[in-house]
Amino acid sequence: MNFKQLAENRHEYAKAWKARTGGQVLGYYDPYFPEELAYAAGMLPVRILARHEPDDVSTKWIYASCYPVRDYVNQFFNGRYGYLDGIVDTGGCEWVYNAFEVAMNTTPSLKTHYIFIPRYPNAPTSPGLVVSELKTMKKVFEEWTGREITDESLDHAIEVYNKNRLLLMRISELRRAYETPLFGSEAMQMLLADQVMDKAEMNAILESFLAELQERPPREDRVRLMIIGSETWDAELEELVESLGANVVIDELDNGTSYFWNTIYEQKDRLLAIALRYLGRPHSALRDNNWRRRSQHVFELAEDYMADGVLIVKQIYCVIHGTDNYAMWKLLRERNIPYHFFERDTSLPEDETRQRLESFINMLKPGLVRLRGWHEPLVI
Ligand code: SF4
Repeated sequence: MNFKQLAENRHEYAKAWKARTGGQVLGYYDPYFPEELAYAAGMLPVRILARHEPDDVSTKWIYASCYPVRDYVNQFFNGRYGYLDGIVDTGGCEWVYNAFEVAMNTTPSLKTHYIFIPRYPNAPTSPGLVVSELKTMKKVFEEWTGREITDESLDHAIEVYNKNRLLLMRISELRRAYETPLFGSEAMQMLLADQVMDKAEMNAILESFLAELQERPPREDRVRLMIIGSETWDAELEELVESLGANVVIDELDNGTSYFWNTIYEQKDRLLAIALRYLGRPHSALRDNNWRRRSQHVFELAEDYMADGVLIVKQIYCVIHGTDNYAMWKLLRERNIPYHFFERDTSLPEDETRQRLESFINMLKPGLVRLRGWHEPLVI
């Protein structure tokens, strides 16, 4: 399955989906958007993703922001997202809100909605607050589409999304194996494609991909890396790692594994069930400033996926990860997990990044007796 192509053709896919179904396409920016409600209303929720494109527009509207946000604005004014019927912002980070405001203020025909997801997901009042926000959003979506969101349609949406998360989790489990059949670049492209496609369609693709993976011969064992940090929109870094003989076996990115990590446990009160899932999802740096649950999740991933080292990759100007990084450094140092930190912008400076990664990977190798088997001495 060519997930890279699916992710890259996302605009064409959404336009074709619209033409085929007559439905509305709804853009969202971060993983706290409860997509199930949009899906139950017959809409196609799509994650707005950055891409590499010359930018001669965004500075006029938004100055010195992180690259993804500048690119959202650039793509928006260049008509890449002209097919969107609406956009929802979940108050993730202030930079994204700026991009949302630009879209809202310059395109009156665009339907817009802001849903407040509290910064403190674990506060006792948060579930009730999110349920009330969901009730409002449900009404808004019903008005936009002229279609009632019934319990049955919500049950269907929850079932489709839960199945999607389960399939992604099953595929992710295969990355834990020493000789995993999956490269990190393929896994990342799969996740990016998943966030811009109709989940029912994607589920069928994932089912056949899973069957294909079970038949794949195991790949040779490599240095195993984990990526954490700001969101991504391509698998350039994973490819670079692979070209150096290592493999990214897990990530903790907002649009990586954090997107699907927990599930919805069905309840009679559907909105409460949805609220609890989104508040309970692995806390991202967007909403973990008071609770520090993210550190424990990162540690568990590193352990479970046997990561030999961690790459902390921050977008330049990413305030969210800029403030959260110290907690990650502290955690990794305390637990003796080697890590390498670097910032990236529009694209990866290839030569520089290659050299840095090469040194980091070479530094890891002497400790990796498992690469040769415990019974054989490792000669470096
Ligand atoms: S990279 Fe950081 S600052 Fe930019 S949109 Fe993402 S979380 Fe916000």
